[in-house]
Amino acid sequence: MSRPIQVMKFGGTSVGSADRMRSAATIAAEASKDRAVVVVVSAMSGVTNLLIAAAVKAAAGDEAVAEALGKALREKHHEAIGKLISGMDERRELLAEIDALIERAANYCHGCALLGELSPRALDVIAGTGERLSARMAAATLREMGHRSVAFDASDLIVTDDVHGGARPLADLTRTKTQAALFPVLEAGAIPVVTGYVAATAKGIPTTLGRGGSDYSATILGAALDAREVIIWTDVNGVLTADPRMVPDAATLDEVSYIEAGELAFFGAKVLHPMTLRPVIERAIPVWIRDSFHPDIAGTKITHTVRPAPQGVKAVTATRDVAMIAIAGPGIIGVPDIAARIFTASASAHANIVMISQSSSQDSICFVVQAADAARTEKALRDALYEDVHHHDIEHVKVNRNVAIVAAVGENMCGTPGIAGRVFSTMGNAGINIIAIAQGSSEYNISFLVESSGMEKAVKALHEAFALGKQK
Ligand code: ADP
Ligand code: ASP
Ligand code: MG
Repeated sequence: MSRPIQVMKFGGTSVGSADRMRSAATIAAEASKDRAVVVVVSAMSGVTNLLIAAAVKAAAGDEAVAEALGKALREKHHEAIGKLISGMDERRELLAEIDALIERAANYCHGCALLGELSPRALDVIAGTGERLSARMAAATLREMGHRSVAFDASDLIVTDDVHGGARPLADLTRTKTQAALFPVLEAGAIPVVTGYVAATAKGIPTTLGRGGSDYSATILGAALDAREVIIWTDVNGVLTADPRMVPDAATLDEVSYIEAGELAFFGAKVLHPMTLRPVIERAIPVWIRDSFHPDIAGTKITHTVRPAPQGVKAVTATRDVAMIAIAGPGIIGVPDIAARIFTASASAHANIVMISQSSSQDSICFVVQAADAARTEKALRDALYEDVHHHDIEHVKVNRNVAIVAAVGENMCGTPGIAGRVFSTMGNAGINIIAIAQGSSEYNISFLVESSGMEKAVKALHEAFALGKQK
């Protein structure tokens, strides 16, 4: 490739209406003047939720939901297309493609209603429809503006394993396919628009990268193309010291390290999918988080370099999207291989373990998984520990969904004494009860579990105690 490549991803709100779609296309077109630009788009905001809700309702026996889904999606996308595309041929062709995709999703839902079942594989086909719609619309919008642009389905580019709902990329296969498909288009001066979120197995079976996965799509493609940088255009002007929805005076950080951004994402900062930085760290490709509503603002740069925060802590994050699983019983210490068996069972359920702790009396093992994995993990544990429960070595396997994880993050926290003390005394002063603390906190975060009702208070208190709103 003769020109440097920039991969830019637009999130749901950044393509959520005709106006937003036009702004996104303008940003991409502007950048393409002196770079080769690859655009990645999410579904229009709300669409993925609509698709997943319809699939779930259909599987519960609601036969009318397929038609209602088709109607809602047609209305939303036809309205935007009417405003965006004036060329009659282009519009007719686009509407035909959009309608065919919507019909396919509705048919799948109808199938689920008839079968009374929704497999993870079928859900991935249905859930990925929104990106297939928006990518075609974004490419048509760029053409309408006089640019050459081609829509690509990432299931022809990104090859993953077959873990539906949370697939992981296979880097070599992805690199070969992506370069073969996109280099000629870029060399020809056109702008490829690729669907975020979706991918496919080596056999071509559609998968998704998990909710919020379009960020991950952008960095997977960035790494596969040896891009100069990846830009995530979203609805906030960077990585902030806390979620601005929870802490209104949160401040934008100019720079954060891959590690810090990764920790924040891991502990629930929605601004990045937790896996986003994995593909780019090794190649040291910088990632920018920028505000598509204010493209003049520089946003946050994520690289290897760190500018230490004066207080050690750089940002606070929290999530209620977790569940605590406790396995307890007086005999647990004497049960052979208990920890190994617990974690083998959790792994077989593809549980994402967010935190592990063990009570000091050693009569319980407790860990925290993502909420979406809780039911599956509980079942796998009950199956694996059936005999032990039967013989009363284990008293119970309990799931508590009424919890939240709070984490303070900063790469040089390890070198700043007294931080843990300050974190926990702040919680004490705010009257917040701590249920569990991560065993052996990493050097980059201090994380702990609270009741979900205390989460916001905990985040606000930490933000205040470390004066994070005043940081840069
Ligand atoms: P997109 O649709 O563009 O992918 P998301 O809604 O997935 O956008 O992510 C952006 C949101 O992440 C913001 O609106 C904000 O509420 C939330 N968020 C949570 N923590 C942070 C943080 N530390 N910095 C910035 N945004 C955050
Ligand atoms: N549309 C998908 C979701 O809502 C992926 C994304 O937006 O990143 O989860
Ligand atoms: Mg997102």
